[in-house]
Amino acid sequence: MGHNLIQAGKAKRGRGMHTSGETDMQGKAKRGRGWAIALSVLAAAAVLGFGGYHLWLHRDVRVYVNGVPVDIRYRSSFGEICDEAGVVPEAGDLYSIAGNLIATGGGGPFTVSLDGVELSEAQLDAVEVEGGESFTVRDGDDAVEDSEVVERITAPRLVPAERLAAVTYVSQWGANGIDRVRVGAVSGEEILEEVVQEPRDCVLASVNPVPSDGRRLVCLTFDDGPSPYTAQVLQILEEKGACATFFVLGSNVGPWSDAIQGLEAAGCEVMSHTMNHRNHYATTSDETYRETADAFAALRDCAGVYTSVIRPPYGNWNEHCWISSRGTMSASVIWNVDSRDWELPGADAIVENCTSGIENGDIILLHDGGGDRSQDIEALPRIIDILREQGFELVTLSELMDADDRIPDEAARQYAPMPEDCAWPAQIAE
Ligand SMILES: [Zn+2]
Repeated sequence: MGHNLIQAGKAKRGRGMHTSGETDMQGKAKRGRGWAIALSVLAAAAVLGFGGYHLWLHRDVRVYVNGVPVDIRYRSSFGEICDEAGVVPEAGDLYSIAGNLIATGGGGPFTVSLDGVELSEAQLDAVEVEGGESFTVRDGDDAVEDSEVVERITAPRLVPAERLAAVTYVSQWGANGIDRVRVGAVSGEEILEEVVQEPRDCVLASVNPVPSDGRRLVCLTFDDGPSPYTAQVLQILEEKGACATFFVLGSNVGPWSDAIQGLEAAGCEVMSHTMNHRNHYATTSDETYRETADAFAALRDCAGVYTSVIRPPYGNWNEHCWISSRGTMSASVIWNVDSRDWELPGADAIVENCTSGIENGDIILLHDGGGDRSQDIEALPRIIDILREQGFELVTLSELMDADDRIPDEAARQYAPMPEDCAWPAQIAE
């Protein structure tokens, strides 16, 4: 077409040659116009050529996304193809070990293959289609958070005695168990994988001791000492060839360590009445622990007495108190018979209270401290005589416990600490 335009220009100029009377100036002007036309023709050709190239560049080509044909401009990017095809590649989601959604799109990335070959991120960014390409887009897989397996110690539980009797003791010490647990790195969730070892519960039993061998035994117990009356009690016991069990206050041990050693030397038994005679239904767990542990330590350190048995002040001791004791004690002992000496009812009444209706294995409550104990001193020789007349033998508490076959030998001792390979429970069994 351009060639024809140039031909047309030549023809025009040829026609001019036949025009008569043309000046030189007119001839020059005519030649200039001819160049202009030629340039215009060239420009037009260039424009048309460029236009053609432009159209060629912007032509549509056909590619395939997951087998579906998509007609798209030549050299489109992958993103443009997805827009055109309505394809939205998605990463997988991230889930916790328990299956809870942690992060949408937090899982594996989507993948794109070109003609069967998976593209890297850089390769994907560089895509410029020329036609005929076949893309396979695959959404990312869901992922589960990282996790690790750790071992967890599981504490035993405390199984309280079904019914409270005079002597409550640990019939089975507890032991820790081991769980294997999977812990989610992001969620912190824990899933039990395996119980490697079940914890062994700590079990309490409570009985009114009864000798299994037919002996008739009673146990005299004295609380709240030592005091100036303690020596008088001991003198009477020695004169009678009898023994008793003394539940001493930890706060009294320092000043009376000699008296305590004298009791043990005479065949009596010394156990703990806790440190400061508090009501442990009204103390904190820490206070209960200190009151228990400190009294045992005072007896051991100041008087050389090893015991793990307490008589709780006011008889107040429940499973919560047991938990608070943290394995320092093996038995809690109250009484079957109350002398009611604290009412100062007179020696005759105390004797009556301590000798009437006594049953085999009874534990009798008296006091050698905490106030005026002169009535106890007056009553004690007669109590011993009458009980013996009734056929009873006076024994220490551990002797009485030992005589009952239901109580294991270890639990019947004055000092029966928790074995080292055992563990104290942190909570009470339902
Ligand atoms: Zn008391």
